[in-house]
Amino acid sequence: MMKVLIIDDSPDAIAVAKARLAREEGLEILTADGGHAGLDIARRVVPDLVLLDLAMPDLSGFEVLRALKADPALCSVPVIFLSGSGSIEEKVRGLDMGAVDYVTKPFDAVELRARVRAALRSKHFQDMLIEYAHIDPLTGLPNRRALMQRLADEWSRIQRHGGSLSFIMADIDHFKRVNDTYGHSAGDQVLQAVAKAIASQCRQTDLPTRYGGEEFGIIVPGEMADGAALLAERCRQNVADAHVRLGESHAQVTMSMGVADSSQAASPEALIQQADKALYAAKAQGRNCVVSVVPVPVVKL
Ligand code: GH3
Ligand code: MG
Ligand code: MG
Repeated sequence: MMKVLIIDDSPDAIAVAKARLAREEGLEILTADGGHAGLDIARRVVPDLVLLDLAMPDLSGFEVLRALKADPALCSVPVIFLSGSGSIEEKVRGLDMGAVDYVTKPFDAVELRARVRAALRSKHFQDMLIEYAHIDPLTGLPNRRALMQRLADEWSRIQRHGGSLSFIMADIDHFKRVNDTYGHSAGDQVLQAVAKAIASQCRQTDLPTRYGGEEFGIIVPGEMADGAALLAERCRQNVADAHVRLGESHAQVTMSMGVADSSQAASPEALIQQADKALYAAKAQGRNCVVSVVPVPVVKL
């Protein structure tokens, strides 16, 4: 269902627009009777399209448009404004402020539906492009761009509400040898298998990503390094146990992992850097192991 939010101070105008759009399939229609109420709903539900009246007493449509465009979570929501006067200046101003289209009141039912469909079509392609831009095509995992965005989100969350956050940096050991021995396309198959082996150990709230080349980064919200190290250890074991079939033969790889948490990092970048340092230490210790920035106490039985 695509969510369409109609913001208009006139109950009649809302009723008419609602009735006209009711015949369009797959739409959930939300309504607000003023600018402030409209912004509240928009922030809450993040609609796929906003139909916005320009002349409203509490907050003009232009002001609402400005507020929508200034909000990072809402700036890409398309806005069609509903213009009463039909004056060219008003239309130009609305379009220049970032609206995708306008409809002049009283609107024609067929035209309104066609414009809504067109705006939603563009929105759909825009969403698809954004999604593709955040996914690594080889492994299907979120990529580094997605990682950095999520890390920034999680970072501001713990700044505001407290809590913990860990990061695991994992790197395949001697991966160059896999490529050299079996060929680059076999190397790609190994990367896909490793991605699966890692992702299968993660919780819904964790974010396993392909950081680059043969490096994987995992965001672990709600855990300190000792908790995240347990996840890293499970991933390490799962990768080591996986035998990747390559035609007649099969390849086996191991990974080294570094773990760091937010308690000793001043920024998301510092957190990654610390995990990377721990990874370096894991390589130096002989590979196929997990190293934490905060030493995990060893319990001897
Ligand atoms: P180390 O244990 O120290 O990490 O050694 P390594 O060989 O894994 O590390 P190195 O950085 O020397 O080599 C990484 C290799 O990963 C080199 C590069 O060709 C390969 N690689 C990076 N991205 C891809 C990819 O998408 N597909 C394939 N097949 N290979 C890749
Ligand atoms: Mg490597
Ligand atoms: Mg590497």
